[in-house]
Amino acid sequence: MDILLSGASVAGPALAYWLNRSGHSTTIVERAPALRDGGYSVDFRGDVHLNVLRKMGIFQEIQRRQTHMGAMWNVNEAGKKLSALPADLFAGDVEILRGDLAEILYDLTRDHTEYIFDDSIAALDEDADGVTVTFERGPSRRFDLVVGADGLHSKVRELAFGPERQFLSYLGLYCAIFTTENYLGLDYSGQAYGTPGRMVALYSARQNTEAKAMFWFGSPELTYDRRDTRRQQDLLEQAMAGVGWEAPRLLRDSRRAGDFYFDAIAQVRMDRWSHGRVVLLGDAAWCPSPLSGMGTGLAIVGAYVLAGELAATGDHRTAFAGYEAAMRDYVLACQKMGEGVSKFMVPENKFMLWFMNQNYKLMPYLPWKGLMARSARKTAAAIRLKDYEPQRNELSRPAGPAPRPRPSGRAS
Ligand SMILES: Cc1cc2nc3c(=O)[nH]c(=O)nc-3n(C[C@H](O)[C@H](O)[C@H](O)COP(=O)(O)OP(=O)(O)OC[C@H]3O[C@@H](n4cnc5c(N)ncnc54)[C@H](O)[C@@H]3O)c2cc1C
Repeated sequence: MDILLSGASVAGPALAYWLNRSGHSTTIVERAPALRDGGYSVDFRGDVHLNVLRKMGIFQEIQRRQTHMGAMWNVNEAGKKLSALPADLFAGDVEILRGDLAEILYDLTRDHTEYIFDDSIAALDEDADGVTVTFERGPSRRFDLVVGADGLHSKVRELAFGPERQFLSYLGLYCAIFTTENYLGLDYSGQAYGTPGRMVALYSARQNTEAKAMFWFGSPELTYDRRDTRRQQDLLEQAMAGVGWEAPRLLRDSRRAGDFYFDAIAQVRMDRWSHGRVVLLGDAAWCPSPLSGMGTGLAIVGAYVLAGELAATGDHRTAFAGYEAAMRDYVLACQKMGEGVSKFMVPENKFMLWFMNQNYKLMPYLPWKGLMARSARKTAAAIRLKDYEPQRNELSRPAGPAPRPRPSGRAS
């Protein structure tokens, strides 16, 4: 089949890899003008995640490029260290920058997948034999199937299922992230400073050669244009007004950042993930929120299952039903990991801030210190994957048209 995927981050290229192996022809359209290499750390945990990465042959490369992150220190306004959150509580079994992961997946698929950057699906017109896709820039084309792997604010979801407000469940926080200088000289570690309802953090990345700044704040839902970065920077500045420590400097840096990211922390909840010849995958289908620490693993596992069901059944209707049945409980369990976390992540009042800090101080001595990490690992492994290998071919020929040359610039 000729299959169009929207989104070149994690879910899209991971699915393209498996579809290519089954002999399908894959095209990925990405709105950004080039591969987005900015971003934060994401992680994989437990045997299920790691086995899928091994089956894809990318586990070693991910290990090679892992962050090797150490503790995240809570500091006071003067920068004095108060308590540490050890990495094994939040960094999973292997942690990597999302941009590095996207690059690994792009390199894995670029010879067999046609990549179209700087474009987006504008309309989908489905009939009995396929889908006519209208693009914002390129000419219309026909595909057998269309996959929405285009994240929290999926265009494919909007076109096939309706406006996103029906599906997004806001968790009460906003988050901004960008790359900046490692001017505090952080050594594979991070520092975080919280005031009621607000948090600012800085952690080193890429062998300490740079740092990632993160802001989190509680707020009622905001209305703004998601393409208007300046407006988002203004909103961030207003929300963080009066916060001390490194916040004023980092707010100034945010204005110059090439990869400024700002979004609401939300989950996607849908009764079904397919509609006719259109199917959703990754954050577009089920975003569990960054608070769950499960989004990347879910995207990789979902890609394996969706392509496997297509290979096993050969019929998209049966395959989509099998995919939804296999993934549903797993997704719900992973989403649960992200619920109720907001109030611990960004405490709303001084007492809660103090309480969390005492908790972190005592953590190394508490008998249940490993509980959080163990429970996350257990949830991440709570799916029994079929072995779809017999239905798959080794890649022996390019499945699609010749790939476009890789754009020289990098988008933020
Ligand atoms: C701050 C933060 C921290 C996180 N931490 C973790 C973590 O520790 N562990 C973890 O597992 N996960 C984490 N996540 C979540 C993780 O990043 C996502 O779950 C994962 O990236 C999902 O991948 P995806 O490919 O489904 O979507 P995305 O990574 O969101 O990619 C969607 C892609 O679609 C593109 N796109 C959007 N609209 C269009 C369009 N109209 N046309 C074409 N392309 C389009 C986008 O440019 C993007 O490239 C975190 C997320 C955030 C925001």
